[in-house]
Amino acid sequence: MGVNAGDVSAAKSILWPDEKVQVTVRQRRVGPGGSVTAPTSVLATDKRIIILNRATLGIRQDYEVIPYRQVTSVRLEHGVISSSVFIRVQGYDKDQGLLKNGREEGEIDGLSNSDAKALADFLNRKLDDSNSSSGSGQEDGGLGGFRYCTKCGTKNPDSARFCSKCGSPLES
Ligand SMILES: [Zn+2]
Repeated sequence: MGVNAGDVSAAKSILWPDEKVQVTVRQRRVGPGGSVTAPTSVLATDKRIIILNRATLGIRQDYEVIPYRQVTSVRLEHGVISSSVFIRVQGYDKDQGLLKNGREEGEIDGLSNSDAKALADFLNRKLDDSNSSSGSGQEDGGLGGFRYCTKCGTKNPDSARFCSKCGSPLES
């Protein structure tokens, strides 16, 4: 993998000032599973996933942003020649999004095996993080859910022992 300088500079205008790109992968231009016309780059930052689609050689560039809190699962599929990473995203609409594949699941195909593994590993770690720390990912009933303060009603992560707003002890 390795961060591609061109992709990072292309993404500069998109990135927030304090945002750091941590993994960059790019679809192969040619080959089984590779996109022939518009190779897509995926930048995983410390804050979100940015998908860059280079249509028509830099004249026009589309991008799409997926916040980690909307990602519900990440799946890796190794092929013989290339690999795919599937990202399941809440409310994802493939007709509008840049990723292809089924409803609420985007596929980034045509990746080298090492790129795909690097991306999937990183995203999976991010999912773990957001489930265990902020807890902002899922609404009621999910794993790593919430508890509501009985005093002020503030939503707190399941792991919290005291309300983040009023400091009351939270009942389990
Ligand atoms: Zn409270």
